[in-house]
Amino acid sequence: MKIGVLALQGNFENHYNKILDFGKTPVYVKTKSELSKCDALIIPGGESTVMSKMIDFNNLRQAIIDLKDEINIMGICAGMIMLSSTKGYNNLKTLSIMNFKVERNGFGRQVNSFKSKIKFLPSNNDINVSFIRAPKIKTFSDKNQCIAKFDGNPVMLTDGRHIACSFHPEFSLNNDIYEYFTNLVKVS
Ligand code: GLN
Repeated sequence: MKIGVLALQGNFENHYNKILDFGKTPVYVKTKSELSKCDALIIPGGESTVMSKMIDFNNLRQAIIDLKDEINIMGICAGMIMLSSTKGYNNLKTLSIMNFKVERNGFGRQVNSFKSKIKFLPSNNDINVSFIRAPKIKTFSDKNQCIAKFDGNPVMLTDGRHIACSFHPEFSLNNDIYEYFTNLVKVS
């Protein structure tokens, strides 16, 4: 099982190392040919407007969209924004792979970053995670299921194939979220 980590911008190295520690095979993805070798893709946190531009610059937009029914994608923070169908921000063209909308920096700006325990519902464990300029989910369709909440707010969604996550699981010692994601991946 090869887990791609989109490595155009942002916090990709921590995911790569996490996947290695977790005993799976990570692959940095910067090109279509690297993407085509992957069974799954993590879109990391970073800055969604820059990531949106870099995805176009590297000719990856249509390639990712074309694979949306074949591979599993986990979008973290800026990656969550890219997976969403959010509209109305300058320089941001999301991939609209999942049907939900967010408010960017909805949990506050950089100075308001914080660590907190969230309840990860599939394993019923409390996990310590970081919220860094995290997007807040505003609406989501009933195709999505909320699988983690913080302070009454949904902070993680899945449509059964993809996962979108407001916070950063890659700084946590807990691997429940990576396990949940890799369990979705069916390798033919
Ligand atoms: N607020 C950032 C954005 O809108 C995302 C922050 C993050 O990925 N940690 O792109």
